[in-house]
Amino acid sequence: MRALQLVEDRRLEQVDITPPPPPGLGEVTLRIKAVALNHIDVWGWRGMAFAKRKLPLVIGAEASGEVDQVGPGVTGLTPGQLVSIYGARTCGLCRPCREGRDNLCEHVSGVHGFHVDGFAQEKINLPARLLVPAPPGVDAVGAAVAPVTFGTVEHMLFDNAKLEPGETILVHAGGSGIGSAAIQLAKKMGCTVITTVGSNDKIEKAKALGADHVINYRDDRFEGVVRKLTKKKGVDVVFEHVGKDTWAGSMFSLKRGGRLVTCGSTSGVSTEINLMMLFQQQLKLLGSFGCRMENMANAMQKMAAGLVKPVIDTEVDFTSIDTALKRMEGRDVFGKIILRID
Ligand SMILES: [Zn+2]
Repeated sequence: MRALQLVEDRRLEQVDITPPPPPGLGEVTLRIKAVALNHIDVWGWRGMAFAKRKLPLVIGAEASGEVDQVGPGVTGLTPGQLVSIYGARTCGLCRPCREGRDNLCEHVSGVHGFHVDGFAQEKINLPARLLVPAPPGVDAVGAAVAPVTFGTVEHMLFDNAKLEPGETILVHAGGSGIGSAAIQLAKKMGCTVITTVGSNDKIEKAKALGADHVINYRDDRFEGVVRKLTKKKGVDVVFEHVGKDTWAGSMFSLKRGGRLVTCGSTSGVSTEINLMMLFQQQLKLLGSFGCRMENMANAMQKMAAGLVKPVIDTEVDFTSIDTALKRMEGRDVFGKIILRID
């Protein structure tokens, strides 16, 4: 069966690998339907010296699949059913796992497609507990963007930042996969949404998703515009994932007692923090990674209800994956790039 392997930095190859054996106890064999690309794929592809991993590695951290075969002891899943797949291989035994907070697993083997083999392959065996059934009305693409894209954003906005209706939020990079999800989720709950984009052609697209104000960060310093829009008060919440380039401005954009929640650092992992601003302004800095199982189910329920929908840039196959990753690296995308496996 076909799989897409990273064989060395910036080199992917389509290979033939042996299909998985029949599913074992508590396992399910899935036919992968769609893989959604994320920045973690870009990090993995261009090489990350500090990540513990062995090449070759099948890529793909976020995907949906169809149940092909059900192993002994599995209940609630039947062949043909569409499921969303949790993005990390967690232990299932530690307390956080037992409570469905798998992103805090104490014995995690790693993130799929980054530390351990990922989902860019035709079939895979997985523990049934890491699969969340897609409700009616959610297709393979919707289920593919639930674990890392929508799940991460649900966890950031609601579990960590505790976003409330009526608050004002600054969402960085509104054209990114998580940015486009955050705009919709925040707007639908009644927040005022300010977002940034890197080109004028993305302004109308961000507004169409529900953004009240869109700032082209290449033309204006976003923190200055945010102060002006909020009458020098600042926003309640900043949704961060850009990192080094925006960090200082993000802190400056917060109101007193505001919350900054971050799940990424695409422009660089290290930065300085103004500690005086941190304590005098009583800011809360919140790190967020991955999601709880329930975040995936909640995200898909909102998709099924028509409250949010995945923003898809393009769908690609194995042959155009390099171009897709380069476009993501160059921020030349609006929404998600989907790799079709079916
Ligand atoms: Zn665990």
